[in-house]
Amino acid sequence: MANPGNSASSRDVATLLHPQTNFRAHEKQGAVVIARGEGVRVFDEDGKDYIEGMAGLWCASLGFSEKRLADAATRQLNTLPYYHIYNHKSHDPGIELAERLLALMPVPMSKVFFANSGSEANDTVIRLVWYYNNALGRPKKKKFVSRQRAFHGSTLMAGSLTGLPALHREFDLPLGGVVHTDCPHHYRGALPGESEEDFATRLAENLEKLIIAEGGAETCAAFIAEPVMGAGGVVVPPRTYFEKIQKVVKKYDMLMVADEVICGFGRTGNMFGSETFGIQPDILVVAKGLSSAYLPISGIAISDPVYQAIADNSAKVGMFGHGFTYSAHPVAAAVAVETLRIYEERDILTHIRAVAPVLQDGLRRFADHPLVGEVRGVGLVGAIELVRDKATKEAFRPDERIGPRVAKAAETHGLIIRAMGDSIGFSPPLIITADEIDQMLARFRKGLDEVWAEMGREAQK
Ligand code: PMP
Repeated sequence: MANPGNSASSRDVATLLHPQTNFRAHEKQGAVVIARGEGVRVFDEDGKDYIEGMAGLWCASLGFSEKRLADAATRQLNTLPYYHIYNHKSHDPGIELAERLLALMPVPMSKVFFANSGSEANDTVIRLVWYYNNALGRPKKKKFVSRQRAFHGSTLMAGSLTGLPALHREFDLPLGGVVHTDCPHHYRGALPGESEEDFATRLAENLEKLIIAEGGAETCAAFIAEPVMGAGGVVVPPRTYFEKIQKVVKKYDMLMVADEVICGFGRTGNMFGSETFGIQPDILVVAKGLSSAYLPISGIAISDPVYQAIADNSAKVGMFGHGFTYSAHPVAAAVAVETLRIYEERDILTHIRAVAPVLQDGLRRFADHPLVGEVRGVGLVGAIELVRDKATKEAFRPDERIGPRVAKAAETHGLIIRAMGDSIGFSPPLIITADEIDQMLARFRKGLDEVWAEMGREAQK
């Protein structure tokens, strides 16, 4: 770096606004500039390698160098780089992707709508559900029930579905029409001695109370949930949770929306998290793993009753007045088709099921570390929650920033992971091998032990 003033990091600081970032901290610490990727690793501009323990943002399922995806994009760019699907136009990549997606669905679905991101997809869900209930002559039935600590995106309405205070505060969110029920985190939310089943029963009862308080079946339209909460800290629901929640949702004639943006395409050990947890959604949202994140694309699959109602209304009012310039973008769709082919040809589910125990058992070996309060996870996603006191579960103060400190320490040892508060998330590319999982966890242990030792020294001062 001959001229640090002109390094990529300082050019970054001079020009780029980063998502979900403390800008003043960024000015001081600068950027880790990632230059290339290979398998489950990425390399910074100095050539240092990192295992990508989060597959980027839970999305690069096939790792960072899948040539078949680059070739699929190039072929499509050279054939038809862009076309839309408005005005009764269509193209083969969009059609094939819809066919393949519908064939994978965990419950029968009728049609797919494409957007470019998870946020746009969830905004689309809201518009769809409002349109659907207008179509059925139920103009008051519009409220969405989401959950505390949910993450459903960052646009105004998807951001309103999100249940994370840091994404609401200072932005005047949530907007009206969205209410939040309990987060199903047994470790943090259960009463002393309460079993997972009893906790789930109580949460279902609370959901029913909330729905009644909000006006019941007349006003409550849909319940939206990630099968495993991701950005809220990797929250795996307690046993019997979705079974009990779903009964309430059905009782009030609400639609069940599964946000499978993280869980879709194998993450939890089945093709969809809905299968892992027995969810029967009316609407299912995918993104991220749909294209292994090589190009932005998301999809919303809807059941036939939902389709029939909105189709009738589109005929009555003239159209379904919603869509994006890039809905079913042909290059993104071609890459997604190739991604789904690869999942099938390489039998990605069998691979995930073979290596998931290596990750889950490996994470659980951290349970007796003095900083670790809880280890949780399923399939190829997990988290380690750090606490001040294991016995009382006392958390660190947010300003102590222990989670980010451990993540930073792991990074110096060549592992990129994500601190969500003091929960450290793991969601590696689905192609990761058992050996690479061992390397990933060894790098994490170095970072964790280093912070623990530093904390001991700081306490003696
Ligand atoms: N839903 C879930 C469950 C997500 O994890 C995310 C992104 N992390 C989104 C929606 C939003 O996706 P995007 O960032 O593509 O808008």
